[in-house]
Formats: sequence, structure tokens, C-alpha cells
Amino acid sequence: MSFELPNLDYGFDALEPHIDALTMQIHHDKHHGAYVANLNKALDGNDALNWSIEDVCRSVSKFPPAVRNNGGGHYNHSMFWKLLKVNNGAGPSADVKAAIDRDLGGFDKFKETFGNAGITRFGSGWAWLVVTAEKKLAVGSTPNQDNPLMDVSDLKGTPILGMDVWEHAYYLKYQNRRPDYIAAFWNVINWDEVAARFAAGMK
Ligand code: MN
Repeated sequence: MSFELPNLDYGFDALEPHIDALTMQIHHDKHHGAYVANLNKALDGNDALNWSIEDVCRSVSKFPPAVRNNGGGHYNHSMFWKLLKVNNGAGPSADVKAAIDRDLGGFDKFKETFGNAGITRFGSGWAWLVVTAEKKLAVGSTPNQDNPLMDVSDLKGTPILGMDVWEHAYYLKYQNRRPDYIAAFWNVINWDEVAARFAAGMK
């Protein structure tokens, strides 16, 4: 067994004009493709090639750094593609919205907090919305390809929304303007996918 690059459920141009087709093509085929290839290389001959990528993340401290970087990259991007869809202004489902109101001070405050988590992440990393062990919503960020499933992560929980703030996610269209990319990101959140992950995380 080995890990495989999942196909996108949509075309490279499906998120235009918010995220451009060339960025999607290089991001999926080249960047995510390289994480998968390097993860398989790093785990060559290891039993963990038969594990779920979630379980690899949960035990990542037991593996060499290449597994943390590339296993995180594989998990994060596999989730990210599913979370993207032009939403035409739609917002969170009633359940997710109620939890945001309860735990994060309302949707506008959440947008600000989540956006700032991405803007203030120095260098490369991810902003996250997670369900914590206490079944509350929390916002934070991780460096590089770390994620909140990892035993090495300060931010812990079940990710239900993740935003890639590596330059490779936006540089062709937005260059150095990470805040502009983050502003556009709200147009391409697949809130149905967030709702499904929220329901699973609350179980
Ligand atoms: Mn990326």
C-alpha cells in the first residue's frame, strides 16, 4: 500500500476568479503531488503505509521530520480541496452558525479572528477552525504543514475548516497580498463540507 494523490472533484478553473486555474493546477498536481511522493518515500518499508493519514498525523512525533512535513501536507491538502467551492455568498449551516455564535462571538468576529490567524502566521502555514476535545469551536494556526491532529501541535482538535496561507496557494494571482487572498477565500468555502465535518467532530 501507499498513499495516493486524490483527484479534485472539480476542474482547475472551478474557483475562478477567486483562485485561478494555474494556481490550482500547480498546487494540486505539483505541490500536493510532491507531498504524497515524498511521504511514500519517507515511509518506505514502514507499516504506517497501511495506516490512515489521520493516524499518521496523530502519532507524528514517532516518525522522522519528513513524515511530519509530507504527511501533514497530504492530510492538509486532501481536506483543503474538499473545502473549496464557489458559494455565491452562502454562509455556514444553522448548526455551525449557532456554534460560532456561542463559542466565537458571532460570524463577523469569527471572520476577523480566522483571517487574522492567517495574516499573522509568519512564513508558511495554515489557519484552522477546529472542534476541541471539549466540543467547542476554536480558531488558531499552525506552522509549515503541521495540523491540529498532530501530537506535536500546540493547537489541537478536529479540523473542520483549513486555509492554506503558503505563498504557493496565492502568489500567481495575489503576489505578496496575503490579506487579499484571505478576503477572497470567503467566496470559496464549501459550507456543506464544513457542516459535515462539524457533525462528525461533535460525535
Ligand atoms: Mn498548499
